[in-house]
Amino acid sequence: MARSDLPPKRIAILGSTGSIGTQALEVVREQPARFEVELLVAGRNAGLLISQAQEFRPNAVVIGDESRHAEVRDALFPLGVKVYAGAEAVVQAMHMDSIDMVLTAMVGFAGLRPTLAAIEAGKPIALANKETLVVAGDLVTRLAKAKGVNIYPVDSEHSAIFQCLAGEWDNPIEKIILTASGGPFRGWPKAELATVTKAQALKHPNWAMGAKITIDSASLMNKGLEAIEAKWLFGLRPEQVEIVVHAQSIIHSLVQFRDGSIKAQLGLPDMKLPIQYALAFPQRLPTAWPRFNFNTCSSFTFEQPDLEAFPNLRLALEAMKRGGNAPCVLNAANEEAVEAFLQERIGFLEMSDLIADRLAKATFVPAPDLDALVASDEETRRAVREALNTPEWRS
Ligand code: NDP
Repeated sequence: MARSDLPPKRIAILGSTGSIGTQALEVVREQPARFEVELLVAGRNAGLLISQAQEFRPNAVVIGDESRHAEVRDALFPLGVKVYAGAEAVVQAMHMDSIDMVLTAMVGFAGLRPTLAAIEAGKPIALANKETLVVAGDLVTRLAKAKGVNIYPVDSEHSAIFQCLAGEWDNPIEKIILTASGGPFRGWPKAELATVTKAQALKHPNWAMGAKITIDSASLMNKGLEAIEAKWLFGLRPEQVEIVVHAQSIIHSLVQFRDGSIKAQLGLPDMKLPIQYALAFPQRLPTAWPRFNFNTCSSFTFEQPDLEAFPNLRLALEAMKRGGNAPCVLNAANEEAVEAFLQERIGFLEMSDLIADRLAKATFVPAPDLDALVASDEETRRAVREALNTPEWRS
């Protein structure tokens, strides 16, 4: 059968109301012959979930916040869409026979259990939820291998590397080079970063994204999380992951092979491209999106990240090297710190202080299983919240 004759792929979108989720639905809208929505999962945004279900007519939806169950159920009852609620329902839904592929676009640690359940159920994964691999990369990649499940990257940098590797599966990677935009505070000295406001940090120069990843991009934590994500996705040692700041965000990342050759993937910064590539792999589907034009961009620049001004990146790279539960502790402390920054309870650099404090004090577990990771996550969050309620950690 020619690829164009294949039946539409039935997709589950976890985090359909978020930045990645809504862009994935744009892709589905533009490619109705290729994709159908089978399941939508949202956290709290019942209104948007209802309107998405009215348009895309999935078989089922899940709303994470159980208090919104009745509202969603009543609105979708006339359409015959099944409506479930709560974290356990998200996990259960991953076993629906009718799902062909799962796009994991929930934010944070909450994405881990559904991703593991989807892999258990043998569903190919389009992975946006990088925190899953940061926290449990070893468990997730081992389970995927055991189940013969492919994980297709959605993060633009990892998609770029994956695209560079097409046709190179037997050629070992010497190193990968992850590009970073540098965020809104590129070039700022550390002293000025102390006074950065939430509004300033939420203004990314090149990408429109959810609040958590936008703050992570401003603090360069996002690049550290991506380094850990890449290590697991591509089976690399920490020293094979390099980071370079490329402010234009046109080169999305590069791979260097053992003959010294470097391949790069370029394009305008638009997440729809990596989302569509992951969903349609190995096919490239035609699009009418704007194209990059060399005549309007006269130079590409490259510089080293400033690990002194942006300690979050240094902390993440150290946690990657340490391994065990260190990335899990880093992630949990970071999620809590970002939340506190977004609530304007702490300053921009105090996020790094909280994370460093937790990494220094947490019990190290060299080879954690899922229970140990859940315990590390909970313990870290509790300790950060406690610290936030006492003035001592600032001293
Ligand atoms: P958003 O904050 O925009 O969206 C998060 C989504 O997750 C929302 O749909 C939210 O639902 C849902 N959600 C959150 N918690 C739960 C829960 N407990 N149960 C069910 N659903 C939940 O995030 P982004 O789309 O920006 O990012 C999603 C993931 O993709 C992150 O891991 C991020 O790092 C990664 N990523 C994002 C990129 C981007 O350009 N945005 C680029 C590359 C990776 P609701 O809003 O209804 O509460």
